[in-house]
This record gives sequence, structure tokens and C-alpha cells, in this order.
Amino acid sequence: MGLILRVDVDKPYGHSNFFYKIISKISEDFWFPNISFIYLFHLKCFLRYCNKNSVRGYFYHRMCTVPSLSIYNLLNKGNHKIGFHAENTRSIETFERELVKFKSNAYCKTCDSFTKHGSGTYKLGKHHYPPYEENKYIDWARRLQIKFPFGNGIASNSNDFNIENGFYKNMFWLEPEYRSESLSLIEEIIEIAKHQDVPVLIHPCNFYTFKVVRKEFEKLVELAKINNIEWVI
Ligand SMILES: [Zn+2]
Repeated sequence: MGLILRVDVDKPYGHSNFFYKIISKISEDFWFPNISFIYLFHLKCFLRYCNKNSVRGYFYHRMCTVPSLSIYNLLNKGNHKIGFHAENTRSIETFERELVKFKSNAYCKTCDSFTKHGSGTYKLGKHHYPPYEENKYIDWARRLQIKFPFGNGIASNSNDFNIENGFYKNMFWLEPEYRSESLSLIEEIIEIAKHQDVPVLIHPCNFYTFKVVRKEFEKLVELAKINNIEWVI
């Protein structure tokens, strides 16, 4: 029993100031020359924290946030898993095209699972197909021999963390604005994780930019340590 960490790597340069927001947006939608010393710096910071605290996780990258060599080394050092964060899910063909391109990257060869970018409300970029269509992804996963282990739902009680056919429909989000009022405390998550696996979701750009997200994650990591709760893969 324990905690399962899912990390969605959304922003190439984070969003901690206006300049980073702009260059993140340009690289997401068009192309931007890779500035290696600041590319995914928020993820480096997050990974160093995880590795220092023996926290393992599943890291889902978009096409515009594929790992660099230094990120790949940090992922390997912490024994993390690399997955695909899908954007163009208009059809199985567009999805497969994006996936094949993703896996052709030297650092993404071991990818064997995916998650969906966005929860259905907003169009989050030029290549993003906004609807969130879970049943379609479950079907595609079966047809394309890839795992789809995590949905984008918000858990409101412990039953919402039950696993069905290898799929967790709901997450506990480290971003407090994406929590149910009936399940919003880190302490409650720790209690549940003593009896069953609990999938938690974080975005490293938010860990870097927002103090409240960082503090919540640090609290979860510390309480997990004190209660001997493992980070399971
Ligand atoms: Zn995302």
C-alpha cells in the first residue's frame, strides 16, 4: 500500500514570470530554439527534490517537453518511469502519430503508458484537442498495446481511488484548486494510503511557481516518511 506519484510535465520553461510564460507558449505552439540552461529547469528542481527524498514517480511529457539529456539522467537516477502526455486526441490516428513521434526521441524509448493533457474545458495550445474522452483512450490503449493507467478525475472519497482493470479514474491533485471539498487534506490522504494505493498528481511548473503547491507536496513527502508509506511504481 502506498502513494503513486503521477507528474504531468506541461510547460517547457515553466510559468514563474512573464518571460518564461511567453517562451513556454511559443515553444508549445510553434518552435523555439532550445535554451538548454533554462529548458525544464522547474522539472530539474522538482526531480532533485524527489531524488533526495527517494520519491519515485511516473513522468508524463508532452511533445514540447520531451526530456533533455540532463533530465533523462535525473529520471534514471531516481528510477522514475517516462510516459507520454497526449494532446492531439482527435482520433486514434492523430494520437498514434503523436505517440510514434514521441517514442522516436532517444530518451522516450521506454515509454509504455500515457495520460491526457487537459481535463476537457479549455484548449491548451495549437496542437491540443480539448475534449476529455476517457472511454476512447481505454479502447486505444488496448488496440495500440500501451497502458492508460490514470484518468483526470478528482477524487472525493477513498472509494474514488479504487482501481478497475489497471485504471485509476480519479486523482488527488496537489494543486488545491482541483480538489473536492470532501477530500482536501494531505492528512486524509496519508490515512487512506495506509490501507490502499492512492494516486496523486502534480505539475512541476506549479511546484516551482506556487508556494502552496510546493508546501503541500513537501508535507505529503514528510508525512509519508513518518508513517512508513512507500512511493510505489
Ligand atoms: Zn497537462
